[in-house]
Amino acid sequence: MARKSTGTRIDVFVVADAVLISLACLMIFMAYREINAAPVRYAQNMAQTLLAVGDDLSSEDLLSHLRLGDGGQAELARRLNSERQELHAAQPGVNVQIYSNHPDYKRLSAPADAFYETSIHQVSEGAPITGQVVHNGSQSFYRAAVPLHAAKDCRDCTQRGVADYKRGDLVGLREVSVPIGGEYAQIIGKLLYAFAALALALAGVLGIIFPLLKRVHAERASISHRAQTLEIEAVTDVLTGLFNRRYFEQAMQRYLQEFNDVGGSLGLLILDLDHFKHVNDTYGHDAGDMVLKEVALRLKAITRENDVVARIGGEEFAVLTPYVGRQQLVAVAERYREMIGSLKINVGSAVLRPTISVGVATNVDSVIDARQLFKDADTKLYEAKRNGRNRIAA
Ligand code: GH3
Ligand code: MG
Ligand code: MG
Repeated sequence: MARKSTGTRIDVFVVADAVLISLACLMIFMAYREINAAPVRYAQNMAQTLLAVGDDLSSEDLLSHLRLGDGGQAELARRLNSERQELHAAQPGVNVQIYSNHPDYKRLSAPADAFYETSIHQVSEGAPITGQVVHNGSQSFYRAAVPLHAAKDCRDCTQRGVADYKRGDLVGLREVSVPIGGEYAQIIGKLLYAFAALALALAGVLGIIFPLLKRVHAERASISHRAQTLEIEAVTDVLTGLFNRRYFEQAMQRYLQEFNDVGGSLGLLILDLDHFKHVNDTYGHDAGDMVLKEVALRLKAITRENDVVARIGGEEFAVLTPYVGRQQLVAVAERYREMIGSLKINVGSAVLRPTISVGVATNVDSVIDARQLFKDADTKLYEAKRNGRNRIAA
């Protein structure tokens, strides 16, 4: 159950992570497009604005007062140059051009190119302004053009090799080109790439590695919990919850070794229920179990912190009691005996009053091994039984 809910939490986490990362990537993509488009938009606006405000090359005033010929051409060239310089000062890289077959403009006209061809076609169809992005090596420009109209009739054009035209006729184009400043956009673009990489790395960590680590951690915890449970089960008596004989023997060996080494006293009590077979025979095995559990509870309740209490056989218990001399140990055994003797256990309509006999042994007189200590206590237990039960022998 717990494992299942952990799995569900991880799934929700992964989905939330995926949504957030996708949103971040989408926003980064939109920002990237916006940033790339911004310099083009800026150049386009500037080109259109400059075309709208700077047109004095084709003013009627200028052309109607021009005397055609070199003087007029020179004045036009001066105007064109001065406009170029003004625009260039306002925005470096900006250029202004005219394209025309008009005799007055012809010498100033830039050579026709693809942009001119497209634009002249569009304005002759009625477009008030044209424009497009043009790449020139590593630099890009926004080129915008407006029509250039004749300021007066030209009646001698045929003589000069051009078809006659009237005032207002389309005679060419006036163009402004503005460089597209992409440097900042490129830097910001690289930054956005970095963000996108970061977002993907985060997605990897949060969406894959983190849940994986979490799962590994949970599995380890579960294994260690199972191992712990097994360990506890291996040393516990199932019926009473006390330590079992196996654990008790190991503990006794360890304790005895340590206490012998430092010359400390260690006492051992073996407690055996009197006439327990009679309880089973008379009241049944379940009643016997109940008595065993009740006795175990009482034993556990009065043992001190450093005492080890265990069920070492059917109706046999043992207590290891450190730091007590022989006399004290006898008093402790007496306390156990009295406490069990005062128990009243209800079994159906009957009240059972169990008693115990206790064998006492200690290491205080000589350094002895665990087997000897146990044997001493067991011998004393039989002595207590022989002497009439419900007593201790030390
Ligand atoms: P004594 O006073 O000499 O110790 O007599 P006793 O009847 O207690 O001793 P004996 O060794 O003859 O019998 C012990 C009984 O304990 C026999 C067995 O049925 C009972 N017994 C052992 N283990 C359990 C157990 O887990 N549950 C129950 N209900 N009885 C058990
Ligand atoms: Mg017994
Ligand atoms: Mg016994």
